Amino acid sequence: MRAMNLESIAAIVREARDIVVFSGAGLSADSGIPTFRDGATGLWNNVNPDEVASIEGFLRNPPRVWNWLLQLKALIDDRRPNAGHLAIARLEQICAGQRLTVITQNIDGYHARAGNAEVLEVHGTIHRLRCHRYCGFVANWDQGSSNPFACPACGSPVRPDLVLFGEMLDDEVFSAAETRSMNADIFFCVGTSFTVQPAARLPVWAKYAGAALVEINPHPTSLTEVADYSVRSGASEFFSALCARLEGK
Ligand code: NAD
Ligand code: ZN
Repeated sequence: MRAMNLESIAAIVREARDIVVFSGAGLSADSGIPTFRDGATGLWNNVNPDEVASIEGFLRNPPRVWNWLLQLKALIDDRRPNAGHLAIARLEQICAGQRLTVITQNIDGYHARAGNAEVLEVHGTIHRLRCHRYCGFVANWDQGSSNPFACPACGSPVRPDLVLFGEMLDDEVFSAAETRSMNADIFFCVGTSFTVQPAARLPVWAKYAGAALVEINPHPTSLTEVADYSVRSGASEFFSALCARLEGK
């Protein structure tokens, strides 16, 4: 990234009233949580993500999906937010008085763990369980949940409170994300390939509504052409440099 770009981006942040950071699986890659398209780790060996992370897969074979998510949860609990998450949390402190919203597609809970206050998890979270029929029953994994079990209130299957492929997003969370996106003066997209709808349309809407669009990704994506700034670097490096610039270091 050229230094001039960093200063231009910092200048927009200083003037902004509403700042959005929109994140995807690539942000957690440095924590050791593989993205769905990363075949390098054992997590995806012998599984098809569309099978173990889809609603069809869950209804067909609940224990298989459950066990795979349990394994993913164990990995997430074992690892921690990386320098990218921490710098995004620091950005919120630096921008106190402005409004910084994190909209994440990740289900790992790392933004909140890093210290961000306003986080919209549009794909839910792996840390909570709920009744598949939304009868109101919610639970934690530690409440005797190493196996799939039936909802004590209505008998439907209990499952992690995350959005599986083939499912609708939570209306309330997604409309809040749409509103924040449309109000954004600057919209950062980090670690996402824009392949999962409807979340992938948020940056486009933000741009139409007038936001400056900044993409941070080591590789080009379908958003690169419309972005105002395309930063070819990892998340940690960029957000740390931006914070340092804003702090005048
Ligand atoms: P994706 O796997 O489709 O794309 C990841 C993107 O991140 C790629 O474009 C890659 O070039 C980029 N990237 C890799 N390392 C990076 C780094 N250090 N800094 C910045 N960018 C980096 O991810 P997606 O678009 O989020 O879509 C996958 C879906 O699966 C989403 O719903 C996602 O949240 C979910 N998922 C979540 C997790 C998690 O919670 N950690 C893990 C796997 C998948
Ligand atoms: Zn129920």
